[in-house]
Amino acid sequence: MKYISTRGNSNPINSTQAILTGLAPDGGLFLPESIPVLTPEELTGLLENGYQLTAETILGFYLTDYSPGELEKMLAQAYGEKFDTPEVTPLTLVRDNLAFLELWHGPTCAFKDLALQLLSYLLTSAARKNGLEKEVVLLVATSGDTGKAALEGFKNVPGTKVIVFYPEDGVSEIQKKQMVTQEGENTFVIGVRGNFDQAQTGVKTIFANRHLQNEMEQAGKSFSSANSINWGRLIPQVVYYFRAWSGLIKQGKLKPQESFNIVVPTGNFGNILAAYYSKKMGLPVNKLICASNSNNVLTEFIRTGVYDRKRSFYQTISPSMDILVSSNLERLLYDLTGHNPRAVSDYMEKLRVEGIYKLTNEQLIVLNEGFWADFVTEKETTGAIKEVFEEFNYLIDPHTAVGYKVYKDYLKETGDRRPTVIASTASPFKFNTGVARAVLGEQSTLDQDEFSLLKRLSAFTGVKIPQGLMGLEDKPVLHQRVVNPEEMEGTVREILGI
Ligand SMILES: *Cc1c(COP(=O)(O)O)cnc(C)c1O
Repeated sequence: MKYISTRGNSNPINSTQAILTGLAPDGGLFLPESIPVLTPEELTGLLENGYQLTAETILGFYLTDYSPGELEKMLAQAYGEKFDTPEVTPLTLVRDNLAFLELWHGPTCAFKDLALQLLSYLLTSAARKNGLEKEVVLLVATSGDTGKAALEGFKNVPGTKVIVFYPEDGVSEIQKKQMVTQEGENTFVIGVRGNFDQAQTGVKTIFANRHLQNEMEQAGKSFSSANSINWGRLIPQVVYYFRAWSGLIKQGKLKPQESFNIVVPTGNFGNILAAYYSKKMGLPVNKLICASNSNNVLTEFIRTGVYDRKRSFYQTISPSMDILVSSNLERLLYDLTGHNPRAVSDYMEKLRVEGIYKLTNEQLIVLNEGFWADFVTEKETTGAIKEVFEEFNYLIDPHTAVGYKVYKDYLKETGDRRPTVIASTASPFKFNTGVARAVLGEQSTLDQDEFSLLKRLSAFTGVKIPQGLMGLEDKPVLHQRVVNPEEMEGTVREILGI
């Protein structure tokens, strides 16, 4: 399988090179030349398999430079003991036609682990296969969860360094604590005085700096990305949508030919894009429902075809979705424009220069055949957490709650009652302030720090605190640095000594 750029000005490369490079040299994102479609037999064959074998089948189509034996070994390590259940991504039914796909059973309690536990193996093997003696430096901008998952995935992995930039005041207390207490010789965690988009722009600017890249090369180093712009980060996420489908069938809620909906609380458009690819691969998905918080740029885009990043930025209780520029949308644009890299480049240039672009009517119609979108307010998010707990005795985090409320709006508007899976993107304990406020009441949670709330929430609900969050409070802070956005490049140079 060869990989091409959404902007059309990069030579086709193989999968290991795409994973090593992250972002295409022309500024675009890498895409496989074609999307394989599973036969009905191949699809039903997956019903017999567990997580790792399903992953081996799906990834085998795309990562053709790795032998099946090699993939098998990497998958066993990535999805073994680090996850607290052998199912890896259990599907919890709360009603006959509604299930939550729990993507937070990994070490850092958010869905990012599904990709980042594997990416370190994919990347170090890719480096070997390409004869790189070099050090691979992972540069990460995070709205909170990617950073920690990348740090855990790559800590003490020989031949790698991880440098994470997070918005200093844009992540939850627990997310921050998880990152600044990170152990590992090769980990660097830096706060940025700004929001996620500024951190992400800073990282993209460093990637695009040819001069710096030459210096890196001379120093025997190269950059890569652990953000969902990296194909190696995106493709492992396709796997769990196949697992959701087989889960519904095994629990008797769906027949193999029947279709189901997928709701994804969305920020950078990575997770929902993985769901979109699962559909292109032949999974019987009806609608992809894109759920946003008050940062509703994607709702407007899907409803009107206008992408307008010139808007207020809101800090919400679902901070991993506080994003105005959803990078992965570029891969969808490639399809919407009928695989036209010129048109994609034009849209991206318009976005960069004018902050806005508009789809044609034909493109908008195609978009709406596949996607439905809405957004929710902070109050509605809290209300959804409370409702799900009271109605189903089931605890969800604020991101997942955004998904639930948007699903209810979808149900009301369309009356479509077919089985639906909501991607549950984080453990409720990871974002427990919002959860505790919803479940225990506003009054009783005032002025309490996240760590006392963690214990109270667990005591009240009888749900155990995940291993990854236990003892976090008492861990020593190992990373203190905070910089301005314009100082990011200098910081990277200093860390790398170039
Ligand atoms: C990253 C993240 C999201 C957003 O996912 P995208 O792939 O960026 O759309 C949603 N919820 C949680 C908990 C996350 O960590």
